[in-house]
Amino acid sequence: ATMPPLLAAIANAGRHGVLVKSAVVMEQLADSQVVAFDKTGTLTEGAPRVAEIHPADRLSGDELLRLAAGAEYPSEHPLATAVLAAARQRGLAVPVAAGFASTPGRGVSATVEGRQVWVGSPALLADLSPTSGGTDALAQVTAAVDTAENAGRTAVVVIVDNVPAGVLALADQSRPRAATTVRALTVLTGTPPVLLTGDNSGAARRLADEVGISDLHAGLLPADKVARVRDLQRDGRRVLLVGDGVNDAPALAAADLGVAMGRHASDLALQTADAVIVRAELPTLPAVIALSRRARRLVV
Ligand code: ADP
Ligand code: MG
Repeated sequence: ATMPPLLAAIANAGRHGVLVKSAVVMEQLADSQVVAFDKTGTLTEGAPRVAEIHPADRLSGDELLRLAAGAEYPSEHPLATAVLAAARQRGLAVPVAAGFASTPGRGVSATVEGRQVWVGSPALLADLSPTSGGTDALAQVTAAVDTAENAGRTAVVVIVDNVPAGVLALADQSRPRAATTVRALTVLTGTPPVLLTGDNSGAARRLADEVGISDLHAGLLPADKVARVRDLQRDGRRVLLVGDGVNDAPALAAADLGVAMGRHASDLALQTADAVIVRAELPTLPAVIALSRRARRLVV
């Protein structure tokens, strides 16, 4: 007996390194009319490195990194991994934190050596409205954020006891064949892919230019990603979203199809998604859409 076309397609997708969770999903992949990508960890390797450290004048670079690493230790975010790697590389002992909390799309907070440490998006400067610390710490940190973002980096701010303490500038690389994948998806769906990111617009624009995306939306919180997906769905367009983070889970659920990037995607993204690109290779996405189209021609 021959295998039904959709099951054969699922097996074939598996050989491409894509886990498709059901025959219905396998069938619906063919209908994708626009693909939206998360940036960090999806179009990029998600293995950023700390490229620059800019402490405000009351701390040393190592001290800033040490406190940040203490607060980031429990986080599964790629930026947290980078901060910890930088601390270890400098031989710094990472302090044990208490009262860890994370806010998706914003950052983390914890008590480190009795001090309240926040690490995350520059938007924290507006959210927490830290004091200037009696010096020009706020101005220094704001300037360092601007410099980093204009250079296409991801700026992570550190706030210690409600005083801006410094900025870590992180750099991430696009995944191999990202530009080829964007072109292939444009041809397959008839619509250029869209970028939805929580990162700053400087870093978003730099990556978008590199991979050939012109429709980009930066500084998005998880709920903003959902709103963007709904917006793309106007006129009944079927949206496929690819993401990896906890911050992407609501949008993965809102999209017509959610695809998790890589087996290192967050547990929430893996559970919410309809398919998983297990080997995290971008060209497998247009490949499985093509498989779905072929299977459908056999089914109907
Ligand atoms: P993306 O949508 O590009 O995957 P996220 O929504 O995960 O990005 O994160 C958005 C922004 O929130 C990051 O660029 C960073 O500024 C901040 N952020 C979130 N989590 C962390 C963390 N653990 N450490 C530092 N910054 C964080
Ligand atoms: Mg991500």
